[in-house]
Amino acid sequence: MASAPHPDTLTAFEGAKGFMPVDEGLALHRAATRATALGLPLLEIGSYCGRSTLLLADAGRAAGLMTLTVDHHRGSEEQQPGWEYHDPTLVDPHVGRMDTLPTFRRTLFEAGLEEWVIALVGRSPQVAALWAGPLGLVFVDGGHTEEHAQADYEGWVPRLATGGLLVIHDVFPDPADGGQAPYHVHQRALADGDFEETPLSTGSLRVLRRVAPRR
Ligand code: SAH
Ligand code: MG
Repeated sequence: MASAPHPDTLTAFEGAKGFMPVDEGLALHRAATRATALGLPLLEIGSYCGRSTLLLADAGRAAGLMTLTVDHHRGSEEQQPGWEYHDPTLVDPHVGRMDTLPTFRRTLFEAGLEEWVIALVGRSPQVAALWAGPLGLVFVDGGHTEEHAQADYEGWVPRLATGGLLVIHDVFPDPADGGQAPYHVHQRALADGDFEETPLSTGSLRVLRRVAPRR
């Protein structure tokens, strides 16, 4: 089991658009590598341009496992025109909306990881409602409003196997550092009693292990 990403993956990651710092990305890769021991697919909510997907797919490939990634590819609230994280190069001029899917596909293709990823294009709660299979890892990095982050937890965590990892990005206990919804999801998971903290957490990337069986 490789503990570091393939050098080509790391190069692609560093060049990809997205919101995952290198240290947290390496922690995500370590978590994903650990989770592959369960022999189940890995799932990401929030594909964006594929930056973090590359690391999950790299860990999955090393174990012969697929990565699933969910996104409607129209961008989160804070990525819309006029907002802090807007990237005008990601607007489809024909429809006048964000479309990160072409960039996402290019990112995976150029890294040679396309065949290890299944992109689910749609709204997370709707995809979750149709997904029945068990998962080894759930990475929550989609919409950061309370509504979206809580719905991601409710929709996907029931599919996480016992011993599987729940990874939450952008967890900021201090409101001065960022939005609170991912932190609230983190607190909820611990309060539910099904999860324990792991030493894999790095910065705002928090890695919890499911200790109680799925209900
Ligand atoms: N993981 C990426 C960043 C994800 S940004 C990285 O590390 O680079 C958040 C993404 O979540 C955006 O692409 C947005 O389109 C998507 N998103 C937000 N709310 C969503 C929802 N309810 N369903 C599906 N995707 C959603
Ligand atoms: Mg994030």
